[in-house]
Amino acid sequence: MTGFLWRVFLVALIIWLLYRLIVTWLRNRSKSAAGAEEAKSSAPEGLHEMVQDNICKVYLPRNQALMLKHGGREHFFCSVECKNKFLEMVRGKEERP
Ligand SMILES: [Zn+2]
Repeated sequence: MTGFLWRVFLVALIIWLLYRLIVTWLRNRSKSAAGAEEAKSSAPEGLHEMVQDNICKVYLPRNQALMLKHGGREHFFCSVECKNKFLEMVRGKEERP
């Protein structure tokens, strides 16, 4: 009998979780639909683009990242430490034949 009760409890839990998911999804959808026009006009091109740190592989918004142009490419870093590590790495590569 306890096994049956557990099953009922689990099913109820799953239904509740699905309900919560649907509610949040609907809320986010209506929010983004209403705010889409505003966000587009207020944010400059590429400001909220996500970039990846080459060293620690973390993703961060482009406007918060440190940018370094190297070898015709743009490299992004979360901190000065990561930028320095990259520079050390690049120098090491260039020194070796
Ligand atoms: Zn980093």
